[in-house]
Amino acid sequence: MPAVYLKADDLRLDAVSKNWKRFLSFCASEGIHCNAGVIARNTPALDGARVNEVRAELDALGFGRSWTVWNHGVDHRRVRETHTSDFCGMPLASQIDALRRAQDFVERLTGVRMNAFGAPFNWWDHNTLLALQRFPEIRYVFHIPYVPGKRCYGSELFVEAEPFLGKVRPGARRTFALDEAKRKSERFLSIERSFVLQVHPGRWDHAGFDAFASFVEHVRSAGYVFRPIGDPQDDAPGGPRRSSA
Ligand SMILES: [Zn+2]
Repeated sequence: MPAVYLKADDLRLDAVSKNWKRFLSFCASEGIHCNAGVIARNTPALDGARVNEVRAELDALGFGRSWTVWNHGVDHRRVRETHTSDFCGMPLASQIDALRRAQDFVERLTGVRMNAFGAPFNWWDHNTLLALQRFPEIRYVFHIPYVPGKRCYGSELFVEAEPFLGKVRPGARRTFALDEAKRKSERFLSIERSFVLQVHPGRWDHAGFDAFASFVEHVRSAGYVFRPIGDPQDDAPGGPRRSSA
């Protein structure tokens, strides 16, 4: 059965926004799996009591059941002029450090060690491939076509349909566009191939949520299931590529 790997970016585990609560609740109620990318920006006052509070909140939202998390770095910054970001144009040591800090932060908050990575803005470079080698527990990678020893959900599998509302700038509002999503996913649906649906639900307007629900209906009626990355069925033909070490 072909899969949609729902890749939802920019979740803050210690500050889950209204939009994210709505999105994760929708996924739970519809029984569709969400692979959520966590920005692991550390908040200073995160003592034991607060950690327990966060865990209870995440559990109530279905953490570990209807959604799981992957490493989306720590800072999530970029400079367009120099085309640099956390994992693009940065020294190897700083990329390793960012990966490690994110792994540790999320483990401390949730008790779970993340098994996947996707760079902010999908910006990465040669050092990212080297940095990932230090993390054997990270077995899955988004957007990068080839990383030795990892299974890659490369950019060729991506469907994105989130036009900006108004001026394009960091943090700008977006929506989810049903027609665009249908059009861009057609090449996968026509051959029943699995694909990655990348979304930023934290930025959506109300209409975006309705359009997303319609798209879920659309792909389900075409026989697709929403699956976690790393599902054993990934070994089926048409699934993501495994890079040999
Ligand atoms: Zn992001």
